[in-house]
Amino acid sequence: APSFWPHRARAVVDLAALRANVAALRARASDGVGLMAVVKADAYGHGLLPCARTIRDAGAEWLGTATPEEAFALRADGDRGRVLCWQWTPGGPWQEALRQDIDVSAGAEWAVREIAAAARATGRTARVHLKADTGLGRGGCQPADWPDLVSSARAAERDGLLRVTGLWSHFACADEPGHPSIAAQLDVFQDALKIADEAGLEPEVRHMANSPATLTIPASHFDLVRPGLSLYGLSPSPELGVPSDFGLRPVMTLSADLALVKRVPGGHGVSYGHSHVTSGDTTLALIPLGYADGIPRHASGSGPVLVAGKWRTAAGRVAMDQFVVELGDDSAVAGEEAVLFGPGDRGEPTAEDWARAVGTIGYEIVARIGSRVPRVYT
Ligand code: PLP
Repeated sequence: APSFWPHRARAVVDLAALRANVAALRARASDGVGLMAVVKADAYGHGLLPCARTIRDAGAEWLGTATPEEAFALRADGDRGRVLCWQWTPGGPWQEALRQDIDVSAGAEWAVREIAAAARATGRTARVHLKADTGLGRGGCQPADWPDLVSSARAAERDGLLRVTGLWSHFACADEPGHPSIAAQLDVFQDALKIADEAGLEPEVRHMANSPATLTIPASHFDLVRPGLSLYGLSPSPELGVPSDFGLRPVMTLSADLALVKRVPGGHGVSYGHSHVTSGDTTLALIPLGYADGIPRHASGSGPVLVAGKWRTAAGRVAMDQFVVELGDDSAVAGEEAVLFGPGDRGEPTAEDWARAVGTIGYEIVARIGSRVPRVYT
């Protein structure tokens, strides 16, 4: 339950939709393939713990987090299933991760050394997923360094300090069907798997598929798919399709109650900087959400909101806690609900509409909804 009444604004999180999305993704995954649900960044803004509980209940064998703190929060909540945590920096809380039975990722020699040291200090055998950079050009080990990383990990394995439970990588362009990097990355991953195999590693799981790959690239499924965004019912890219094309339903609906409705004359500047000026007598409605709540400031002039049955656009600058929409001669009353985004079936915009309006991706729209907006679980 929210710690305060969501009188101003709320993000309603539809846990039944989340559960159904888990089932839809499972149905997309090849036979016998496991599911690692990515719950980093507060479950993409939907709320880590309620989402994680629902996702586990729906049968996900693994949860994936970026930061160790996210993984620890799962354990503090009583989650006892497999958890992989992948974002580490030197001096990170490895020992705590081992004590809490969290699988950790290593994409460089320093990480293997620190994990081995943590294993010695705790008397525990670490479970490690070695991460290959197969072409993303971000985290993970370059192909040229992979044989050395593999042999260091194998040596630590022989010393009983760790077990390589996973081999994994991440795509750069899985959301662009037919992009040549997709096949190239799969080839590099196969080479990396072969090198690991020849060194004697016997991982439980090999995994590479984010949402777009889970939905459209069966050859990338290996032992485990690793979707994030699609769990929350958004399509990873308009090019691939809309959520319903994949049997997915958006989980979050963001709405607010109009704080004020008033008539103003033509020629009236609206909000900071007067970047919008009314063209004639009109009605303004005040939406009590702003950039401190995650509404992009550059949604000024473009961000869509369903008010009194029609889409309106943020008029003038989005401020820290509020923005204005123009209703023209339509009427509305203070307290009436304005819907910023949701599944779209009540005529409201979607998170994808917001992404298009402000030049970003749905991921950023939902993940940035701030902690001041209460999540209400249904
Ligand atoms: N795996 C890793 C390493 C990630 O960083 C992410 C998120 O960006 C995912 C999987 C899930 O990706 P998506 O949300 O596109 O499914």
